[in-house]
Amino acid sequence: MLGALIGDFIGSVHEFAATKTKDFSPLVHPSAQFTDDSVLTCAVAEALLASERAEAIARRFKSWGRRYPRCGWGLRFREWLWSSTLLPYGSYGNGSAMRVSPAALLARSREEALELARITAEPTHDHPEGIRGAQAAALAVHLALQGEAADAIRQQVQAFSGYDLSATVDEIRPSYRFNETCQQTVPQAIVCALRATDFEDAIRNAVSLGGDADTLAAIAGPIAEARFGIPAELARQVWDAMPDDMRDAMARLYEQAGRPLPARV
Ligand SMILES: [Mg+2]
Repeated sequence: MLGALIGDFIGSVHEFAATKTKDFSPLVHPSAQFTDDSVLTCAVAEALLASERAEAIARRFKSWGRRYPRCGWGLRFREWLWSSTLLPYGSYGNGSAMRVSPAALLARSREEALELARITAEPTHDHPEGIRGAQAAALAVHLALQGEAADAIRQQVQAFSGYDLSATVDEIRPSYRFNETCQQTVPQAIVCALRATDFEDAIRNAVSLGGDADTLAAIAGPIAEARFGIPAELARQVWDAMPDDMRDAMARLYEQAGRPLPARV
């Protein structure tokens, strides 16, 4: 979803900066760029639009990934990307959750959201924590798209995943450190979106944890998009920076989901 790409784009310059404040400026830094989170979100969108499974999705990830060789790939994913295997590597990295939002947008039920999330995780992240992270993130987006309130989303995602989502962003921030596992990224990112007052606030929450900022924001972004919508000026700014293949994947994703692309002015 576009909210994931916007989160990734804004967060990209903060990934290794350990930014610990919400008051960073400008919101969209001139050096901001799309990273692996955006590339694979588009790959997941295309894979689901084509009803792909397993090895076909792995091939889709490799085709998109090799087209964008330098965009912050994790070490193990990059090894897999350039290898000849189409088998998963047992990952529980946050990559399964950062790319999952198209599953939630396309799903027509809670069960389908969870099933599509599992299908998009398993080609690489077949560790139970990798699958759980993707499913929890997708469930949060799905429930937000259904118009559920933050408290109801928190309760349901917590009950499904076992994640503790009770802390506030201010409570998480002081001791939070850079971490690329699902277990230490997904619950925090969900909290950032559920505690937010609007879309921008969710992204600022995610960056302010001082961790894997682009991925935290790429997970929080689509939840916040579903809750609040995206400011049209921000959507335009990031859309203008998107390459054609990403625009095309996003346009077809929203069309298939029967939802308008976020407005851009
Ligand atoms: Mg990234």
